[in-house]
Amino acid sequence: MNINRDRLLARLDELGRVGTSHGPGRTRLALTEEDRVGRDLVATWMREAGAQVYIDSIGNIHGVLRGAEDGPPVMTGSHIDTVNRAGALDGCYGVVAGVEVIAAIHNAGVLPDKTMVVTAFTNEEGVRYAPDLLGSRVMTKDIGVAEALQLTSTDGEHCGEELRRIGYAGDYTPWDFLPGVFVELHIEQGPVLDTRHIPIGVVEGVQGYSWWKISVSGRANHAGTAPMSMRLDAGAAAMQLANRLTERSVVNQSPSVATVGTFSVEPGAINVVPGKATFTVDFRDPSDEGLEQAEVALRRSVDKLKDAGFTTTMECISRNSAVTFSDEICKEVAEVAAERSLPILRMVSGASHDAQMLARVCPTAMIFVPSRGGISHNPEEFTEPDDLVNGAEVLLGTISRLIMRRTSTQ
Ligand SMILES: [Zn+2]
Repeated sequence: MNINRDRLLARLDELGRVGTSHGPGRTRLALTEEDRVGRDLVATWMREAGAQVYIDSIGNIHGVLRGAEDGPPVMTGSHIDTVNRAGALDGCYGVVAGVEVIAAIHNAGVLPDKTMVVTAFTNEEGVRYAPDLLGSRVMTKDIGVAEALQLTSTDGEHCGEELRRIGYAGDYTPWDFLPGVFVELHIEQGPVLDTRHIPIGVVEGVQGYSWWKISVSGRANHAGTAPMSMRLDAGAAAMQLANRLTERSVVNQSPSVATVGTFSVEPGAINVVPGKATFTVDFRDPSDEGLEQAEVALRRSVDKLKDAGFTTTMECISRNSAVTFSDEICKEVAEVAAERSLPILRMVSGASHDAQMLARVCPTAMIFVPSRGGISHNPEEFTEPDDLVNGAEVLLGTISRLIMRRTSTQ
């Protein structure tokens, strides 16, 4: 069994041309007319591959190839909605390659033990509807269907009505498709594989993040008359604190990263000691433990400022726990890559993916291929055709192993 190289590349190209009339790149936001055109293409390709197509009530498209056994399917998939002015590969690659995997298995004429599904999830990017990962969230019951259908888009349109308008308000219950195993193929969207010339990333998890807004209040005063020893300079105190947070990541040499992305002082004049300073910090770490340690360090530093007489506030703006994928499935992917003499790198994803929702309900892993220069969410997004084909072959090999495996002996 092999991936049809020419068709994979041609279809990525064809899907990439949908939504290109708005300027550079393509813009195919969830549940827009452009999304509908892309969905229609994908559903057609699924049927051509030999799959039966089902639309669930949040608009996820499932292409199903039945196996001999009942029971939860082996699923792959990703998304075809994009950010504004996107590249052609983010998400689309995983869906189009998944369709090619179904086609290869169907054409081989063998009846797999397990059912296989390729799914295009609704509104992964979260540009038009918040939260992101909407289709996979609903499927894994992180958010209710009714609640999801009530969401309003950034341009004021009701999610349920938009699904109906584009013809993708399905009747099927999303969690009826819940898989026994999930494998998502995706471009890396970062520079690691490209820089190190490694064709396959075996993704062991998704790093967690934690976003904070910190304010420090002291006493505004005259920059000329207030002696240094008598100041309560909120700006200087907040700068020291911000420095300590980023320094900590450098000193520890851990995979943990910290970013102070915004910083402002009030009243904000050249000759006034700042009375208040506000800044944000973004912590990321592949483990929850590392994330918690960063948060403890933050809290400790803020407490020290309180002891020094400042008034402080700490607000958690957003937090997502780190996700650990299945060791067993990662091993399968690594073995398949080894069979094809493709070097691998075990790595953690820096970006969010539908796979992190599925990881809550079943053994899950991801396969990454290199992104040239690490560029993504940009029309310049590019992966070498050979790398695209290699990734799809590894997906085919992995899925083939998983579906040809009886759960029970009769
Ligand atoms: Zn994506």
